[in-house]
Amino acid sequence: MEGDEGIRMTEQYELVVRAASALIDGVFRPAFVGVTGGTIAAVSESALEGRELVELGDDEVLIPGLVDSHVHINEPGRTEWEGFASATRAAAAGGVTTVIDMPLNSIPATVDVAALDAKRAVAGPQSSVDVGFWGGAIPSSLGHLRDLHERGVFGFKCFLAPSGVDEFPHLDTAQLNQALDEIAGFDGLLIVHAEDPGVLEAHVDHGGTDYHRFVESRPPEAEITAIQNVIDGVRRSGARAHILHLSSAAALPILRAAKAEGLPITVESCPHYLTITEEQVPDGATQFKCCPPIRDEANRDLLWEALLDGTIDIVVTDHSPSTAELKFAHGGDFELAWGGIAGLQTGFAAVWTEASRRGVSLESVLQWMSRGPADLIGLGSKGRIAAGADADLVAFAPQDAFTVDAQRLLHKNPVSAFDGRDLHGVARRVWLAGTPLLPGDPPRGRLLDKP
Ligand SMILES: [Zn+2]
Repeated sequence: MEGDEGIRMTEQYELVVRAASALIDGVFRPAFVGVTGGTIAAVSESALEGRELVELGDDEVLIPGLVDSHVHINEPGRTEWEGFASATRAAAAGGVTTVIDMPLNSIPATVDVAALDAKRAVAGPQSSVDVGFWGGAIPSSLGHLRDLHERGVFGFKCFLAPSGVDEFPHLDTAQLNQALDEIAGFDGLLIVHAEDPGVLEAHVDHGGTDYHRFVESRPPEAEITAIQNVIDGVRRSGARAHILHLSSAAALPILRAAKAEGLPITVESCPHYLTITEEQVPDGATQFKCCPPIRDEANRDLLWEALLDGTIDIVVTDHSPSTAELKFAHGGDFELAWGGIAGLQTGFAAVWTEASRRGVSLESVLQWMSRGPADLIGLGSKGRIAAGADADLVAFAPQDAFTVDAQRLLHKNPVSAFDGRDLHGVARRVWLAGTPLLPGDPPRGRLLDKP
């Protein structure tokens, strides 16, 4: 930051972090970062004085904590799948300092103010990182979305095909348009699970343990048809919409065209689509089941192209665990196993490992996984190392290699699609609001409202 000369001589910060390489304004450079009261007070190329000085190691870089806007924590109601204590510890271990919780698969689903209050009551005392909430747009919550908006949710999630849980029904096309109109009325954001139920019904397959047959039962056309409906609704209503967990590269041309047209549409993909391929999924290995599915290698290459050209805006984990019993029920039958991948702790390292293999920079990965998600949800205090931002910082060792062991991950159930993978990139130290997060610390994450 320029223009901080006068301050530097007189001010003593509570904490100063010195890094030979810190991500400032999208580029890595040497920096002293001064923190006071949980906030970054100064960023300078020359020395700052602090009551405590931390100097990063030669193999570490200083980055803003990651922001994961797609996390299913499932508490209350399905706490045996995942809870706030375990999920937020896993987040911190993976370099994630802010998570936004999805409105399902907790019970109740976050579709009204009482349910949001129930979420906040259980999350507040247990969370090790900062937590915000999405609301749910289901047929019965349409017409009442403004209540949740005013209570601080970051936007509204809907499904266009069955969600997998009864208490969160999907919207048909008329209801999608109703939601868009309502949300446009308060300049909110609709985030959409975009698979078309008609296409899915036409491809129903009881393929058992054959992964390829499962992939064919959720074809690219399901995503294309649903996304086209969203694009048409956005053009008509003017509402902002965000496409969740894009899996099929075949939908990229219509998304590119929609963006070129200037429509307010953003897109995310997830670590598993970007780092795992259909060819690598053994039959019966239902830890890899998610919807839409992980597709083939050529598809994955096209998703990376779309990240690099800006068609895909962000990468977030869609951390969606269940119990191991549900994940491995029915002897590896892909139709019957729970669909969802738990990637909160491994997502950053997985994407960074694949990015570096492809010659893609860490700066780009952090744009997709930290700054980008923060900006998408309007959290200007997150995702950046800049004066005035929250001092959520990570000392990251990009070359530090490890092998994922599902048993040692911190989320609740020891199931991982990344088990056994050799990755590199370790969050060695994490500061939340300027204070180190250490194992065994009492939870001190804050609950976030949309500003
Ligand atoms: Zn999800």
